[in-house]
Amino acid sequence: MQQAPHYDAMFKLILVGDGGTGKTTFVKRHMTGEFEKRYVATVGVEVHPLTFHTNCGTICFNCWDTAGQEKFGGLRDGYYIEGQCAIIMFDVTSRNTYKNVPNWYRDITRVCDKIPIVLVGNKVDCADRQVKAKMINFHHKKGLQYYDVSAKSNYNFEKPFVWLAKSLARSPDLQLVEAPVLDANVVQLTAEQQNRLMQDQQEIENAAPLPADDD
Ligand code: GDP
Ligand code: MG
Repeated sequence: MQQAPHYDAMFKLILVGDGGTGKTTFVKRHMTGEFEKRYVATVGVEVHPLTFHTNCGTICFNCWDTAGQEKFGGLRDGYYIEGQCAIIMFDVTSRNTYKNVPNWYRDITRVCDKIPIVLVGNKVDCADRQVKAKMINFHHKKGLQYYDVSAKSNYNFEKPFVWLAKSLARSPDLQLVEAPVLDANVVQLTAEQQNRLMQDQQEIENAAPLPADDD
């Protein structure tokens, strides 16, 4: 017997970024997605169906996660084909991972045209942040959205998905009607860290977009 799908819309989400930035850790935080993940042997990836309950219906992002192939260069076209939205992740404790963001962006846009993309800087729970809020400007040049995240503390976990859902549903008023169930094993952020992150987010939102250049 065919089961009725438990979502109203489904999208392929491409998750990219240098090895070690925390992509696998991030995607595994979503409990039902982790429970229902599928391994696709032909492409060597895990697909996590991440569902979000919104005022525009239940949205499922089929989130593709590599088995580590990105550590040995770029990913095959099969990873990108039919991608409908993307998250590019870097690690705020590693400048090199931020330097590689334009390469990941180029790889995505070579195969997928005009899909919504979110840039996320992960590991903001770490004391030794190297990529400061002020240094993050790639998203302005390319019309992407940016969020600080911390997979280990669930900080801002839902933000990239809500932004992508708004963009895909063309509904600026879209919002969650229920919080996703996340892994409860979290690293706690101190009050000082939370304040600092709030200030950073303001700074990022207030920063003037730079003129586009194509370097
Ligand atoms: P991937 O190669 O991009 O899939 O990265 P992984 O998810 O395998 O994570 C690489 C390392 O970073 C692991 O040791 C994780 O425990 C660590 N890590 C991932 N996310 C975070 C985070 O938010 N904060 C901290 N402090 N460490 C993290
Ligand atoms: Mg991984």
